[in-house]
Amino acid sequence: MNDILPGESLTWQYVEGCFRSVVKSFGYQEIRFPVLEQTQLFKRSIGEVTDIVEKEMYSFDDRNGDNLSLRPEGTAGCVRAADQHGLLYNQQQRLWYQGPMFRHERPQKGRYRQFHQFGVEAFGMPGPDIDVEVLQLAHQLWLKLGLLPHVQLEINNIGSSEDRKRYAAALTAFLEQHEASLDEDAKRRMHSNPMRVLDSKNPQVQEILADAPALADYVSDDSVEHYQQLQALLRGLGIEFRENPRLVRGLDYYNNCVYEWTTEALGAQGAVCGGGRYDGLVAQLGGRDTVAAGFAIGIERLVLMLESLDLVPEQARRAIDVYLIMVGDNLTAQGLALAAQLRQALPDAGIVSHCGGGKYNSQVKKAFNAGARLAVILERRDSGSEAVQHLRLRRLDSDDEAITVELAEVVDKVREMLAAS
Ligand code: AMP
Repeated sequence: MNDILPGESLTWQYVEGCFRSVVKSFGYQEIRFPVLEQTQLFKRSIGEVTDIVEKEMYSFDDRNGDNLSLRPEGTAGCVRAADQHGLLYNQQQRLWYQGPMFRHERPQKGRYRQFHQFGVEAFGMPGPDIDVEVLQLAHQLWLKLGLLPHVQLEINNIGSSEDRKRYAAALTAFLEQHEASLDEDAKRRMHSNPMRVLDSKNPQVQEILADAPALADYVSDDSVEHYQQLQALLRGLGIEFRENPRLVRGLDYYNNCVYEWTTEALGAQGAVCGGGRYDGLVAQLGGRDTVAAGFAIGIERLVLMLESLDLVPEQARRAIDVYLIMVGDNLTAQGLALAAQLRQALPDAGIVSHCGGGKYNSQVKKAFNAGARLAVILERRDSGSEAVQHLRLRRLDSDDEAITVELAEVVDKVREMLAAS
């Protein structure tokens, strides 16, 4: 599991803020559901003969003897929760979620055993309009983050579940003819999930597969029409894509159009977002027949991309805008009150009030180290028998001289100076 340190967390917050603003602008609503579910939920939805269920889930028996798993993805839990609470009954829903997912994979850069996803799921709309809306939403996020030039959309049509059943039967028949030359993995999968044999890394198996029946020949006319309409809509919106007939995705619940946004900026772990339609899943999990579509984005991969491409705006890199310096005796109460006043007036600014006393120079040094843009300096100096109080503002991101301000105008002046930098 990778730790997220404060610097990375600023990028994370920035990504999250952008995602939240995009889903809000598309009218999607948040749904939350647990990280632990019955293992059976994932087996029934993702599929028994998939890498996730066969090798990657963190599963255990709880004290009641129920077998539970940490969620490896969000769609199954989202469907379970939405259906259980009546959100899918005869209605359309546009939902989003975010949170940790768990897969026991070999960790490497961009691949972790605990990672996080943003996901959107749209229910009750047969498409292709909703499919394109969901893709448009991801496209909007790339645009907002400045990632659009660094991602490519790949799409494929994997047909309806009936189409795939017919194809799977044809593929099994083909593989049976070549059984003697297959490896153990392929032999095991050719009856339980023959399409997974297509992913084999074994060159000998791949050689045999060169003559295997093609999925495209088994896809029904309805599905082809859906796919063509979807492509026409994408073209109309200027959303670029590439067809990839090898894209099948490792989860069983998908049908018709599936897709992935990939990048070359991350090395081996190039997938940043994956999704598609899953029209049969709600009914399969016991709900009323409800068509659906959605995707999930890997948050860590977005954070890595933004940092390696240096795309995080200066403003988002800054946790602290204003550092309040207090020089002189008995200023703490007044300083804390001033900080409170600034926070109330400037709710989006980071305002740190210096703690621990010390000389002006050491406090200013702390303000620089904190990355603040502006120092508010509250000073009390003895002048003869009277103590005189000053309030000054000093820009820390330029060589400008500090300016003296009145207490009554400090909030407006701080706002003005922050806006100007
Ligand atoms: P998937 O459900 O496998 O299509 O995953 C959707 C997205 O989650 C991928 O495109 C990745 O960005 C991200 N993702 C999947 N697995 C991992 C992992 N082990 N570590 C980090 N990100 C991941």
